[in-house]
Amino acid sequence: MSDTKLLDGEYILPTYARFPLEIVSGKGSLAYDQEGRSYIDLGAGIAVNTFGYADDEWVKAVTDQLNTLQHTSNLYYTAPMAKLAEQLCQRTGMKKVFFSNSGAEANECAIKAARRYAALKGKNTSRIITLKNSFHGRTLTTLAATGQDVFHKDFLPLTEGFESVEPTVEALTQALQKPAAAVIFEPVQGEGGVVPLSQEFVDHLAALAKEKDVLLIADEVQTGNGRCGTLYAYMQYGILPDILSTAKGLAGGLPLGATMMGEKLEGVFAPGLHGSTFGGNPVCAAAALHVLERLDDTLLQNVREKSKYIFDALTGCPGVKCVSGLGLMIGIEVEGEAKKLAQACLDQGVLVLTAKQKLRLLPPLNIPMPLLEKAIGILKEVLAKGA
Ligand SMILES: *Cc1c(COP(=O)(O)O)cnc(C)c1O
Repeated sequence: MSDTKLLDGEYILPTYARFPLEIVSGKGSLAYDQEGRSYIDLGAGIAVNTFGYADDEWVKAVTDQLNTLQHTSNLYYTAPMAKLAEQLCQRTGMKKVFFSNSGAEANECAIKAARRYAALKGKNTSRIITLKNSFHGRTLTTLAATGQDVFHKDFLPLTEGFESVEPTVEALTQALQKPAAAVIFEPVQGEGGVVPLSQEFVDHLAALAKEKDVLLIADEVQTGNGRCGTLYAYMQYGILPDILSTAKGLAGGLPLGATMMGEKLEGVFAPGLHGSTFGGNPVCAAAALHVLERLDDTLLQNVREKSKYIFDALTGCPGVKCVSGLGLMIGIEVEGEAKKLAQACLDQGVLVLTAKQKLRLLPPLNIPMPLLEKAIGILKEVLAKGA
């Protein structure tokens, strides 16, 4: 066993079921282990490494900022954060941004915003509707918002005020017969098995929310930042959320969360009501500015084309029951056991993820076509053979 594996086993809290692989470096869509063996990475650090490993331009944007100002407190102004907020607002139609360090924190801020909105409006409820099978984070409040009981057990009591319903028109209609402050949803449920919400459901959700002055919170921690083939996935549903949270791929490999607020939230926050020491850190913000700059129409079009390639290549293949997802966020319902198949892929030099009983692909958005073709070829062989 390697030293790292031994040390990890000795000193790291065993909260992760790791694959037996130590990644020591990477370049583009390839990761390397200690022996210099390469792996085509179709997981991208769980949708984080937007342009893969050590992308030259990204590294330059980060190191230029690192050599200028690595951090200061939020008691002072910094340009990268302000410019990033401007970009996010201009490209989404949102009005204001709060920066944090992770997806869970971005959702915490969204939930605080919804509660305060309800309070200021004199609504006497702070009830938030969430969807079954959703995933919103690991803090006690975002766990409460996560509609999967398996994550709750033994961590009770969680934050009160959340109620999860099936993502169906009937269930939602019924839930919204009682007053509510907000509905939080992932346009494509990620950890829940890469399941896009139906257009019918989202249309109904948007109409009901408007009618009842219930805030729409889109959790785009995973679906955002080009992952689904548009800058944010909500854009493909023809709606505009009131609150939009994101993280994962935003800074292309550095920790950054963002909670964007629409028109309705104007005036909901004031100094002292929320904060974060690291939130909007100049290095992370510079990284994100660079990522956003590159997420132009051409790149997003490429994402959609690569998505179509993967869907076409895998649909109907031996060992594949069904392919789901949007853009480069893809779930594969397999005949065998997902975890074992992922291990078999790793053995063949391809890194894939799982989500529930599915394989999940979240490759870097700029993965070169030849590498993607090679990886999909290997994946097809593994799936046909079974594990
Ligand atoms: C990953 C994820 C989160 C949690 O993000 P962290 O950065 O791990 O806190 C929240 N919501 C969704 C939809 C996610 O995919």
